[in-house]
Amino acid sequence: MNKLNGNCECKEVSFEINQEIKYFSHCHCSQCRRCHGSAFASFIEVEKSLFHYKSNTTKIKSYSSSEHCERIFCKICGSNIMFFNKNKPEKYYVSVGTINGNISLPEAHHVFVGSKASWYDINDSLKQHLEYPGYKIE
Ligand SMILES: [Zn+2]
Ligand SMILES: [Zn+2]
Repeated sequence: MNKLNGNCECKEVSFEINQEIKYFSHCHCSQCRRCHGSAFASFIEVEKSLFHYKSNTTKIKSYSSSEHCERIFCKICGSNIMFFNKNKPEKYYVSVGTINGNISLPEAHHVFVGSKASWYDINDSLKQHLEYPGYKIE
C-alpha cells in the first residue's frame, strides 16, 4: 500500500496518510460549498491515527462551522485541509484536492444532495444521499 501525500497550496502544511481509502464523498452541503467556494467538496475518510503532519502545525487554523463540525485550513493560503466531527474525532475527512499524484479511490458518493446548489446538476451515476449516509457504506 502506498502512502498518500498532501499539502496546502503554499506548502506550509503537509501531511501523509498511511491507509487504503475506503470512503470517498462529494459533499453538497451549504457549509462545504461556502468554505470551498465550489459546487461541492470532495473528501476521503481516514483514521486520525494514520494521518500524520509532515510540517509543523503552527500554520493550521480551525473553524467550527457548526456545533459538530470542525474545519482545518492553512492560515497562510486558506486551503481547506480537512474537517472532523467533534463527536467522532477519530475520523478525519481530508479534502481530496490537497492529495498529490494519481491516487486510486473507491467510487464516490454524493452526500447532502438535499442542499445542493440549484445551478449545479449531478450528471453521473454515483449513489446520492439526501443527507449523510453514516459512517459505513451500505
Ligand atoms: Zn498554505
Ligand atoms: Zn459538507
